Amino acid sequence: MKKKIKNFIFKIIKSDLKKKKYKIIRTRFPPEPNGYLHLGHAKSIFLNFHISKLFKGKCNLRFDDTNPEKEKKKYIKNIIKEIKWLGYKWNKKIKYASNYFKKIYNYALILIKKNLAYVDQLNKKEIKKYRGTLTTVGKNSPYRNQSIKKNLWLFKKMKKGYFKEGEVCLRAKINMHSSQIIMRDPVLYRIKFFKHHRTKNIWNIYPTYDFTHCISDSIEKITHSICTLEFLDNKILYNWILNNINIKFKSTQYEFSKLNLEYTILSKRKLKNLIKKKIVDGWDDPRMPTISGLKRRGYTPKSIKNFCKKIGVTKQNNLIKISFLEHCIRKDLNKKSFRYMAVLNPIKIIITNYPDNLIEKIKILNHPQNKKLGKRTIYFSKYIYIDRSDFKNNKIKNSRKLSIHKEIRLRHSYVIKAIKIKKNYLGKIKKIYCTYDKKTLNKNPKNRKVSGVIHWISKNNTKKAEFHLFSPIFNITNPESQKNYLKYVNKKSIIIKKGFIEKSLFKKKNIKNYQFEREGYFILDKKNTDNKKITVFNQTVSLK
Ligand code: ATP
Ligand code: MG
Repeated sequence: MKKKIKNFIFKIIKSDLKKKKYKIIRTRFPPEPNGYLHLGHAKSIFLNFHISKLFKGKCNLRFDDTNPEKEKKKYIKNIIKEIKWLGYKWNKKIKYASNYFKKIYNYALILIKKNLAYVDQLNKKEIKKYRGTLTTVGKNSPYRNQSIKKNLWLFKKMKKGYFKEGEVCLRAKINMHSSQIIMRDPVLYRIKFFKHHRTKNIWNIYPTYDFTHCISDSIEKITHSICTLEFLDNKILYNWILNNINIKFKSTQYEFSKLNLEYTILSKRKLKNLIKKKIVDGWDDPRMPTISGLKRRGYTPKSIKNFCKKIGVTKQNNLIKISFLEHCIRKDLNKKSFRYMAVLNPIKIIITNYPDNLIEKIKILNHPQNKKLGKRTIYFSKYIYIDRSDFKNNKIKNSRKLSIHKEIRLRHSYVIKAIKIKKNYLGKIKKIYCTYDKKTLNKNPKNRKVSGVIHWISKNNTKKAEFHLFSPIFNITNPESQKNYLKYVNKKSIIIKKGFIEKSLFKKKNIKNYQFEREGYFILDKKNTDNKKITVFNQTVSLK
């Protein structure tokens, strides 16, 4: 893996180390605990953790917790769990931006004392109006030239809770005529009377993302602060703050393009909306692009990391194909999944020329190539199940299906021929009567051409199961680009089938991922309990 990663960030770090700009490199992953992590975060995690490891540096995990109204302890817990599951270890203790609230407050005082920040008494709406637009310059707030003394006094009052939310805020004094809107006196602190999950009710004021992030990075001596491209405009402010607060170590920000995935949205706010609207069951619904959802769907840490590695890191926005993600999981599961037979949509077969009470044992390999996965016993009897879709009532030329007077091989066992069907009063086929050829157990007698091989289960070896098959939540390739993304929800993103699996599958308790022959890769759903009558399997991905 080492040699292959050579993205532009890798090159920057390599050159910085060569020039001895830093002795050791430090990166960080800074999630806001306002939701679960998704595949986009996985890209950032991979980049930050992996690159620091490549250069024998360190990667911090820091919660960016400055919006108490949106952030929750349960999200912190989940984020920690999923980063561990992906297999990453952060440097020392977990960090929180809230650990630095006191320091950040003191830096705000420094800016006020340097006459580089002021307490504005315009309200939110007015601030917006005064800020101007891309084509018109901004206008100075009437409070901009208050004395330093008054600003200090007002800021302390803000902190003590004398003002209402939105009544006043602390702004940097930069340039209301700047061509970069972000530099038109950005807000540094706002009032929020909300109990913070860590600092409780100590603070009535909270620093903004822009003020917090560069300071937290620099306190932790982060050498390469890697973020996504939408923060490109914020970089100038990032540097302005660090250059004006008298901090010794100054971090540098580098931007890369976000992960965009076909048929998928990757934004916590929008994902939360899918839950709220009951389009999915929760953050870990197997259709969700969250790490928890992917895990429940049967994705492995290896497949996710491999995906992140292969998509690369650039500054160009592009839409990654969902088939590429599927390729990564198939590649991993193909090697290690136990093969079993499952019939998702069963139809009964009666082998008329098979002895009534005979049950034959057939020993087969659990994986056609990987002998290490051992063998198991399957059974053959007069009554078996095949998938309804493997039978065609009308004989079609060159079809690989069973039909009347046509032969087909049952995987690992005999060749059978259909002779008669029985329908119910609605005209639906209920049973198929077949004969078997005794000489064909696992071999083809000479001059015998059998058109296909299908999977099956003997009636005495079945356990009932429910199979959940998924397709993307959205039916357009780029829902993220649509304002009204909910209009494009795929109403058939889950299909539930009821059928059978081999009973013996439950003998091996520690197996997670299975390949059900001809159907795809599956995983036992986490909600299964032993006392539940029906077992649920989630389809990870179909076979190609
Ligand atoms: P969201 O819009 O989903 O809330 P965010 O950027 O606000 O995303 P954070 O928790 O602030 O979420 O992100 C933590 C880190 O993950 C940031 O450095 C961010 O740039 C990165 N990140 C978020 N989404 C993506 C993505 N789609 N691709 C790559 N990196 C991402
Ligand atoms: Mg964010």
